[in-house]
Amino acid sequence: CGIVAYIGHREACPIILKGLRRLEYRGYDSAGIALLNGQLNVYKKKGKVADLEAFIADKDIHAHIGMGHTRWATHGEPNDVNAHPHYSTSERIAIIHNGIIENYAALKTHLQQQGHEFHSDTDTEVFVNLIEEIQKQNKCSLEEAVRLALHEVIGAYAIVVLSNDAPNQLIAARKGSPLVIGIGEGEFFLASDATPIIEYTNEVVYVNDYEIAVIRDGKLDLRSKEDVVQTPYIQKLEMEL
Ligand code: GLU
Repeated sequence: CGIVAYIGHREACPIILKGLRRLEYRGYDSAGIALLNGQLNVYKKKGKVADLEAFIADKDIHAHIGMGHTRWATHGEPNDVNAHPHYSTSERIAIIHNGIIENYAALKTHLQQQGHEFHSDTDTEVFVNLIEEIQKQNKCSLEEAVRLALHEVIGAYAIVVLSNDAPNQLIAARKGSPLVIGIGEGEFFLASDATPIIEYTNEVVYVNDYEIAVIRDGKLDLRSKEDVVQTPYIQKLEMEL
């Protein structure tokens, strides 16, 4: 139900946790975080953001890229396994997702036949395995695989994707569920609404349906799902701290 992600020069984890707390008003049953620092680590827990914080207290959380999620369960009961982020079968790609993938059952059957393993009951785990399968079959970049996956899924989503194989980038996309990008000085914030972002920057881009954002090398690349480059419309928010 809530998404926060960060890429830049600061420590990602504290920014993400603070952002998730700012989104707590939206309601949720579990929380989780993925941090990319040479390897892709995922930590997730049923319960409050405070429970996640207690869980990661003794973990290595140093990273400049990461994403966090608060879940409002739609497919699969609230528990640690169903909490986001979800890994692909190879554990090299992770996703967070708000929304519902309506055709997840058919996609899941197909992906299982192609050897993908599922650990959760969520529709979301199907999405990340679909991206992995498309990347494998097309031998394409992760962003291209995400783009092609958007043509296969039916439903509503705001997603953020991280991969070990693309260690300096964040990929995000939406249809139906909200997603905002905050543009800082050489750093970017992503969130379900602007409340986690406004303390860092007042320049935001509201991602439109069927747009894919790739943030890499301090730049934002926004494209349609037909791969046409979009000019981001940067809005200035009134700062109310
Ligand atoms: N449908 C997904 C799930 O049940 C995402 C729910 C959400 O928006 O938090 O895990």
